[in-house]
Amino acid sequence: MRLAESSTATALAAAAAVSAASYDTCSDYFSLQESTLVPACIVRPRSAQDVSKAVTILTTSRLPGCQFAVKGGGHTPAGGFANIQGGVTIDMTSLNATVLSEDKTSVAVGAGAVWNDVYGYLDGFHLAAAGGRNGLVGVGGLLLGGGISHFSPRVGWACDGVVEYEAGAVFDAFTGIAASPNFDPYVSVQTGLLYASAAKAWSLSSSAVYTKPVLHPEVFSGLEAVPSISNTSEITTVASLAAENPTPPLNWLFATLTFGTSSETMLDIFNTLNGSLYNFNPAGGVTWNFAFEPLPSVMLSHAAATGGNVLGLEPEDGNSVILLFSALWPNSSSNDSIYRQGRDTFTAIKAVAERKGVLRKFEYLNYAGPHQSPLASYGASSLDFLRQVSKKYDPIGVFQSKVPGGFKLW
Ligand SMILES: Cc1cc2nc3c(=O)[nH]c(=O)nc-3n(C[C@H](O)[C@H](O)[C@H](O)COP(=O)(O)OP(=O)(O)OC[C@H]3O[C@@H](n4cnc5c(N)ncnc54)[C@H](O)[C@@H]3O)c2cc1C
Repeated sequence: MRLAESSTATALAAAAAVSAASYDTCSDYFSLQESTLVPACIVRPRSAQDVSKAVTILTTSRLPGCQFAVKGGGHTPAGGFANIQGGVTIDMTSLNATVLSEDKTSVAVGAGAVWNDVYGYLDGFHLAAAGGRNGLVGVGGLLLGGGISHFSPRVGWACDGVVEYEAGAVFDAFTGIAASPNFDPYVSVQTGLLYASAAKAWSLSSSAVYTKPVLHPEVFSGLEAVPSISNTSEITTVASLAAENPTPPLNWLFATLTFGTSSETMLDIFNTLNGSLYNFNPAGGVTWNFAFEPLPSVMLSHAAATGGNVLGLEPEDGNSVILLFSALWPNSSSNDSIYRQGRDTFTAIKAVAERKGVLRKFEYLNYAGPHQSPLASYGASSLDFLRQVSKKYDPIGVFQSKVPGGFKLW
């Protein structure tokens, strides 16, 4: 959470805590509808990994049909929102740590903290954050819904003050692998962000393949340490790994860009995507998929030994990341609006990479959209060479003019 320095803020936080006392009915829940429900089991995680383990158990076949609830500050009144009769309640309130950043501009807050935890801690530094006006309200629930604070007219919804969620940990772990000067050549990894417009929901997943029969290799330890809903690691064959079911026919859109490894850029790209796509929900819905994959310089070093290629990439360029930007949607009447949205969003994230100084010229042809120029991205001498080859073997340009599909040289 971003912070503000203000003596008034401190006073207001204190006032909130005092008036909040009247809401404390010696029950963790604000309403009787919630506190009278009796779960069969209460889980009190002490770390994000505990949460991940609990959710994994609850969502796998080990407990078929078992329903669960998540409790933050317990201040939503409706029965069954943060408690459950006969199911499992995950009580997040032990995850209430608050840690101020070194530069004192932001604070890391546990997902189960209540605003009193945050305000009490920050008061010692004469700082405050935009959060609940009542200190007993939970950070988790308030931020998930938006959050109206005393500071909101000055700084917006409380959720606008969130700098990042632990998604940043995945980008750090991915970049740790992709940026390594000793990139492990057995690694094939992809980190993907998926956004479903109808549900307004993001999900994040990584496909981490090691091309040696080693389960949980050290190189993936950073990625595996990030709490996840499931981890399906196993030793298998290429044939069974590649045997994916075909997707049903849908409309698709592809585009790509390449940037120098930078976890900060990935996070900025995510924030830009979220801002750009959040309110866009065309008829029939659209799913956006953003896949980041390393382009390590060790991969580029093989070309020299096999006669080279025309892609215009050199190992000296260093490690990069290729982003495959894609969208899939069922309803063809939404094509135009999705193309427009896709183009605006793509332009915005390209600008992020440019601003960060990490944008590379390479556009991977097999991920490029029709408006892109992957062949030109190979550089003038490669393009010139390709044109000479084309003129030599196709002097009248059959494949340049009579075959309109694909990217053209002339
Ligand atoms: C007395 C009172 C004062 C209030 N003051 C304000 C105010 O000043 N400003 C304002 O905007 N709103 C205010 N509210 C509304 C409040 O923001 C919402 O009720 C909010 O949902 C409460 O969050 P919680 O974590 O305390 O509640 P909970 O009941 O624990 O959670 C609310 C919902 O969020 C989910 N949830 C909570 N934490 C997590 C988590 N870590 N991960 C996943 N899901 C989670 C729960 O499952 C539940 O569905 C107030 C409500 C009350 C009763």
